[in-house]
Amino acid sequence: MATYEASINKALDPEQAELIDRKEHCSADREKLETAGRLLGHQVRIKRNDNEYGLYTVSEVRQENPDNIVRMGKGGRERLGTSDEFDATLDSQVPRPALADSDAEAQGEFVERLDDNGWHTGLIAIAPHGGDIEPHTDQQAERVASQLAGKGVSAWRCKGWHPRGAFKHWHITSTDIHEASFPLLNLAISRGFRYAVAFHGFEDPDIEHDILIGGLAPDALKENVKEAIEGVVGSDFTVHITKPDEQFGGDDRRNIVNRLTAGGANGVQIEQKIGPREKYAPAIADAVAKVYASEL
Ligand SMILES: [Zn+2]
Repeated sequence: MATYEASINKALDPEQAELIDRKEHCSADREKLETAGRLLGHQVRIKRNDNEYGLYTVSEVRQENPDNIVRMGKGGRERLGTSDEFDATLDSQVPRPALADSDAEAQGEFVERLDDNGWHTGLIAIAPHGGDIEPHTDQQAERVASQLAGKGVSAWRCKGWHPRGAFKHWHITSTDIHEASFPLLNLAISRGFRYAVAFHGFEDPDIEHDILIGGLAPDALKENVKEAIEGVVGSDFTVHITKPDEQFGGDDRRNIVNRLTAGGANGVQIEQKIGPREKYAPAIADAVAKVYASEL
């Protein structure tokens, strides 16, 4: 793992128009980035000071002079508490290893977990945004794995806590997550699981439904998951299978839940507003586990 002192500058307008709009993204000098062992598409940790630090995806490499310049849009800089340019440390280490959950929570840190026997190819349940990033989702992935223990089920999750907002500082969108930056994910990414299911949380007042079922898995499987969850939430919350053009659909081939499956097209992504998570998180996980129990 390696770090370097970076100068966080404004993204160039107009040539970095796309970067300007993507607050989880940054650009960096290719050769300087390689000194830290990182490449285009990887995640890095940027630390401005003891209170402001978070994760970014390097979405562009370009030649910089001096070569320690890292560029972000305004939204990207504001994730670390300022719209100004600033000095920071770029760190190749994304999750902190060897921290217990309680220590990570107390320190406002980000950790990665994998329960896996190293060889089975059944199901992997994941929660890339656990802890306080999207609360309850990590417990749901863990619950699916424990309900199906003995059947060949793994659980991968990341958990983040941050005194100034876990989502704001730690969230990396599922289509960007790169296994090179997540050592435990890297152990499982090439396995080719028959099934993968991802638990997420979302908030969007423009979306009328409370729970969205997406991913590239066949409709029949998503229909089974939908019915199982409806059996739990009853008339309290609505469940909807996303269509290809809809937001939070999880149907991008680059989405980590799809990439974990053999052939890349059997992931199921479950997006939940906070209401159903607070009221039914374990019961939803149990219902999902039951669907896969009959498949495995
Ligand atoms: Zn999420």
